Amino acid sequence: MIIVMKQDASAAQSEAAVKRIKELGYEPHVIRGQRRDVIGAVGDERGKMVLQSLESMSGVDKVVPILRPYKLASLEVCPQPSQVEIVPGVVVGGPEIIIMAGPCAVESEEQIVYTAKAVKRAGAQMLRGGAFKPRTSPYSFQGMEEDGLKLLDIARQETGLPFVTEVVNPRDVEMVARYADVLQVGARNVQNFALLKMLGQLDKPILLKRGMATTIQEYLMSAEYILAEGNRRVILCERGIRTFETATRNTLDISAVPVLKEQTHLPVIVDPSHATGHASLVPSMCYASVAAGCDGLIVEVHPTPETAASDGPQSLRPAEFADMMMKLKEFAKVSGRTLGGDA
Ligand code: PEP
Ligand code: MN
Repeated sequence: MIIVMKQDASAAQSEAAVKRIKELGYEPHVIRGQRRDVIGAVGDERGKMVLQSLESMSGVDKVVPILRPYKLASLEVCPQPSQVEIVPGVVVGGPEIIIMAGPCAVESEEQIVYTAKAVKRAGAQMLRGGAFKPRTSPYSFQGMEEDGLKLLDIARQETGLPFVTEVVNPRDVEMVARYADVLQVGARNVQNFALLKMLGQLDKPILLKRGMATTIQEYLMSAEYILAEGNRRVILCERGIRTFETATRNTLDISAVPVLKEQTHLPVIVDPSHATGHASLVPSMCYASVAAGCDGLIVEVHPTPETAASDGPQSLRPAEFADMMMKLKEFAKVSGRTLGGDA
């Protein structure tokens, strides 16, 4: 249920409503709007009508049901788009399109520092790089683990770029959170509810990738797991879904961007690298994503894709990335957005 406070409701009246929601056995989530507060009360759907009694409390305007199965992720609870601050000046969901770029996996200090400098020069605001890799084959490179996190930290110190990196196992959440600016949940873990619940208790932004076979509704229910634990800083990422088509690694569901925008306040970014699997297709999908209204992109870039430990065929070379970024500025402009601080 949504408890909509009156425009002139006092802080004490909001607090009283919060207290009553708790007494009735529901979890209150206060969203402070510019004009008024709304309180999302989430919990057991079956007895939720008891919350209707809050309508008689002073300061409460009305109590309305949330129709969507996901509550805190829905536009009903929070009609304004959410902005997720990564570090001061890097905000996902604001006017600026945020570009995260870097290799699929961290391989060496030289590789990650070189790439970080190159993507920064081209205008990226964040570095990506996997230290824990969820590979389809147990015989493939699994990542450098904590050593990889240390190298990402060095690259951050050298460039000032915050970084996003994946956490695969609930056991490693605490360690990854000690290093990372943003923790990524990969497509294969989108319904790992134990992992999502742990990430919901962190005070760090989470990049939640769509699973290769999750519907939009299932995907938003996964986001809800994180939000329900109290972590509001969730960024969604469309990265391609499984279809009958084999010409591309996955099929980029470009319409997922406007569909998500109609249903959720959470920012949405696109990963054209995993969506297509081919470097030659990445730039055009970057432009299309910006035209579709995304808030950012996460792009794989490797200094020597032919020697990459993972995902070389879909990785742009630094020069190709820089070229794509130049053209992307034009698409950002006509979409009413900025890129890399340009007005
Ligand atoms: C990745 O970002 O390197 C990755 C493994 O992505 P996904 O989970 O989308 O396949
Ligand atoms: Mn990859």
